[in-house]
Amino acid sequence: MDSILVVNAGSSSVKFQVFGLDSEGRLSRQLKGQMDGIGSRPRLRASGASGDTLADRAYPIEAIPDVAVAMTVAGTWLREELRVTPLAVGHRVVHGGPNYDGPVLVDHGVVARLERLEPLAPLHQPHNLAPIKSILANFPALPQVACFDTAFHRGHDAVADHYALPYRLHEEGIRRYGFHGLSYEYIAKTLPKVAPEIADGRVIVAHLGSGASMCALHGGRSVESTLGFTALDGLPMGTRPGQLDPGVVLYLISAKGMTPDQLQDFLYRDCGLKGLSGVSNDMRELQASGDPRATFAIDYFVYRIGLYAGMLAAALQGLDAFVFTAGIGENSASTRGRVAEKLEWLGVALDPLENAKHALKISKPASRIPVYVVPTDEERMIAEHTLSLLWKMHPVGSTHARAS
Ligand code: AMP
Repeated sequence: MDSILVVNAGSSSVKFQVFGLDSEGRLSRQLKGQMDGIGSRPRLRASGASGDTLADRAYPIEAIPDVAVAMTVAGTWLREELRVTPLAVGHRVVHGGPNYDGPVLVDHGVVARLERLEPLAPLHQPHNLAPIKSILANFPALPQVACFDTAFHRGHDAVADHYALPYRLHEEGIRRYGFHGLSYEYIAKTLPKVAPEIADGRVIVAHLGSGASMCALHGGRSVESTLGFTALDGLPMGTRPGQLDPGVVLYLISAKGMTPDQLQDFLYRDCGLKGLSGVSNDMRELQASGDPRATFAIDYFVYRIGLYAGMLAAALQGLDAFVFTAGIGENSASTRGRVAEKLEWLGVALDPLENAKHALKISKPASRIPVYVVPTDEERMIAEHTLSLLWKMHPVGSTHARAS
């Protein structure tokens, strides 16, 4: 079966999924896997569509020194043991910069342009690009598509895209990019199928996972996001603080003597739910903990979601629906219930029974603002983008462009 390989590479892991392509051009997930523990205890794990284990192998630390080698080892396993020879590879790339407003077919020029964006996302962009470069070197004819977390937000009005900084800094790329775009794009694409009555309206989507943000959709287009120049802004997250007065950063430098590296580490790893609670960055552990600071961290998270709902409703000049997604949004009925209380003034009335069942629509029939739970699927979005660029390269009937 023809297939598309989707790759999501981070600093210590490479996650991958294979989507099969049937004769009608439909994609179905065939397997998921990851090589994690890069630099500590490398391990390749993969499971099939029904959750059956396909691989679980440990490697010595020196065998998998970096992300590029991890991709090569995982790719060799896919090719030689599972006979997966994809038509194309789609990659999640965190930053597309000011110019990419959609996925792009990768070549050396694109890689060079994306490398120039590394200072804007130093913790993610180099790792996202590592497998792209390694595949480009080893399989130069295999089409690769870069799909950006920023692209879906590129249509924002200038007032939503700017900081009140001198204009030249905006031109240099200091903009409110917004992230989690592949998740929001998937939701925007799914709403006409699962909730057509709201798809064209003004919708707030809350992507609540270890990374958390909210997006204002109008007619399926992103008009505002709680995330800005980096993925540190907006809502508190597992280990990131969310919105912070830049004066705090100045204080940490001048009074605490923190260096840029220490600050970066602190802001990305030690703050958010973890820093507030002193217990965990994980919502399930916070909910299970009896520690009052864990309870406070959840209260803070819910409070900030409520605040940002007000901001996004203002950006939309009204509200027609609210959607929860991602790990916490899809699975935590209690968090949804708490958030819904903060939205009552907007006209939200949750149905506790539907909420407990994780139903698609969890508001009461009479709720002025309907509330939905829509599971996100960023990997499928990447697979779809990759396939559609492949079709553009090889119009219908000639997708058999296997290059590896
Ligand atoms: P994600 O990054 O989208 O995978 O989401 C991860 C977050 O979702 C973690 O904070 C998890 O604790 C949280 N999560 C997943 N399942 C549940 C659940 N059943 N109840 C509460 N939180 C959950």
